[in-house]
Amino acid sequence: MTPKLNPARPWPTWGHLGLACALAWAGAGSAWAEGAAHGAAKAAPATRSAPPNAAAGRSPATIVAPATRRAAAPAPAPVPDDVPLPADTAAASTDPLEHLRQRLADRLVAPKGATASGSFDVRISTRSGLQPPSAAAAHGAAPSRARGGKVAHGPGAGAVHWGYEGEHGPAGWASLRPEFGLCKTGQRQSPIDIRGGLAVNLEPVKFNYQDSKFSVVDNGHTVQVQLQPGNTIDIGGRKFELQQFHFHRPSEERIDGRQFEMSLHLVHKDEQGRLAVVALLFDEGPANAVVQEVWNNLPLERGDARPARQPLALTELLPDDRRYYTYMGSLTTPPCSEGVQWVVMRAPQSLTAEQIGIFSRIYPMNARPVQSASGRRILQSD
Ligand SMILES: [Zn+2]
Repeated sequence: MTPKLNPARPWPTWGHLGLACALAWAGAGSAWAEGAAHGAAKAAPATRSAPPNAAAGRSPATIVAPATRRAAAPAPAPVPDDVPLPADTAAASTDPLEHLRQRLADRLVAPKGATASGSFDVRISTRSGLQPPSAAAAHGAAPSRARGGKVAHGPGAGAVHWGYEGEHGPAGWASLRPEFGLCKTGQRQSPIDIRGGLAVNLEPVKFNYQDSKFSVVDNGHTVQVQLQPGNTIDIGGRKFELQQFHFHRPSEERIDGRQFEMSLHLVHKDEQGRLAVVALLFDEGPANAVVQEVWNNLPLERGDARPARQPLALTELLPDDRRYYTYMGSLTTPPCSEGVQWVVMRAPQSLTAEQIGIFSRIYPMNARPVQSASGRRILQSD
């Protein structure tokens, strides 16, 4: 999807938060929905952790270079060329400080013709090179694929038009790219029609959500909401951090054969890169204020992230009735990676016909058909 998200990165603090937010943003650029975090597990660990002030063509190296050079260059020794910088216009200067100043000035000026997207790739590669390997590994799933390409395309390496109809629809996903093979051959795919859950004494999912700054993007497959880091859930003692959420119409999951008007997927990831997706179901009924807030911040263009002025009251998204079904499944979008723990909240919530209609105007149908449950175990909290 689109690298254009970057200039819109709205929160200065994210620069310090590094990879955590990088991952969240990975979803923003994603050409997939819940797939973002996971599909990239095999992708390069480069993450979108460039600080916001790196927008407009400045790479993080812009920030880092001066400090590095200062430390490494005690006057009057010549400033070493330890940081690769473009157009060394100060090469002729004999004063190291002047040299440094000049080079810094050069760096602060966006290269001619540099576009937001053009500078994006530079930023990514530069920044990722600065990250400690451990951090990168911890969030290794940040999908490079999610950042590349254009809206409605898959991995950046090639424009893969996957969608929900025709030859590029779900039945054809596996043939679009070799790495989408699981979409056809997988044995634990999602969504499923949830039936026959085993009612047991499951621990409630602990939601540690808070009012969060957010940004809305139409990624070509859905409307997706990017959030500031710090929202987590606890499932069975394992902690997952919320990456993004997005919508499907109609609902992908069914319960006892019943499909709902819409569903919302809250995509979480733990430190080992495992995914947990919480699905909320929506029928037509009274208005949902949080969803309305998302609609109010729809960007005008696909691929553009629109940062909202007000934080989103995330906790209000959750139903009062926290009973749920859980089973192991997959991403419901290419590459259909498996090993995803699904938590489907049993109690449907509501959206007005108008609220449903707004999404329908953008995505009349973006639900993968149900997949075989293949004798999988489904647990339900009683
Ligand atoms: Zn989804």
